[in-house]
Amino acid sequence: MQCSKCGNPKVIIKKEQSGQLLCKDCFIESIEKKVIKTVRKEKLLDKGDKVLVALSGGKDSVTTLEILNSFREMNIIDLCAVTVDEGIDNYRQEGVDIAIRHAQRLGIEHKVVSLKEEYGITLDEIMQRENHKGSCTYCGVFRRTIINKAARDMGATKIATGHNLDDEVQGIMMNYLEGNTDNLTKLGPKSESKAEEFTVKIKPLREIPEREIGLYVVAKELEVHFDSCPYAMQSFRGEVSEVLNQLSEKHPTIKYSTLRGYDKIKSALKDEFKKDYAHGRCKRCGEPSSNELCKACSFLEELGV
Ligand code: SF4
Ligand code: ZN
Ligand code: ZN
Repeated sequence: MQCSKCGNPKVIIKKEQSGQLLCKDCFIESIEKKVIKTVRKEKLLDKGDKVLVALSGGKDSVTTLEILNSFREMNIIDLCAVTVDEGIDNYRQEGVDIAIRHAQRLGIEHKVVSLKEEYGITLDEIMQRENHKGSCTYCGVFRRTIINKAARDMGATKIATGHNLDDEVQGIMMNYLEGNTDNLTKLGPKSESKAEEFTVKIKPLREIPEREIGLYVVAKELEVHFDSCPYAMQSFRGEVSEVLNQLSEKHPTIKYSTLRGYDKIKSALKDEFKKDYAHGRCKRCGEPSSNELCKACSFLEELGV
């Protein structure tokens, strides 16, 4: 066995889709080239952008930061980062510490915001309540609000998240299975909202399988938080992920074909189902909202905080 590109006998991966065998250096190069290709193809960056990376300390966000930093080194963009501490015992702190170390290593502006400081309650405390709506429902809404605010505070023009191929395909399938056409219109490499308070979100790793990101951080010896969130498997996303991984064993290109299929129908979906953007303001926090209360504040009211 030898590397399909350079002949090095030390092969570290057989690519799922192409069957290509790659050595460490050629593998690292292939990932970085593919991300740069996605950035160019989808026009994710403009010269002079200040990109805020949503940095959890996990493999996906650390890889996003690492590869976007090459654009920063070429003086194309500026970078900053925010880490959200949801308040999950025996899990989150390690990721926060790793995020801090990466921001220091690269010398970039970095903020850590906790749910406790921002809203007076942790995710663990919410999960002790009866009739809660499931950890990921709160986590997603609160995190999104905190990241949007941080982007405004730090003067960011784009928000980069670490969504990989698996995340994106899970999102497509979950929303399809739930019949959530509104959420289906929001997926894709670049989400833009007409409400100017919402910063454009980009997903540079959208075409990289999760397994390859895991191998990338090991190959580059990047420090990352590998543990999974203790709430992850309770979620519908976790169930969908299991099914997709089982299907991929016999059909290795199924995640790519689902993504490509979605990309082909996305504009038709948007034309048919995209809802108007938020015109009003939340009466509690002032964030853009189409209802009296934004999603985060309606959760807070229900929780009585
Ligand atoms: Fe939050 Fe759910 Fe992700 Fe855990 S798995 S960090 S609860 S969204
Ligand atoms: Zn090679
Ligand atoms: Zn609000």
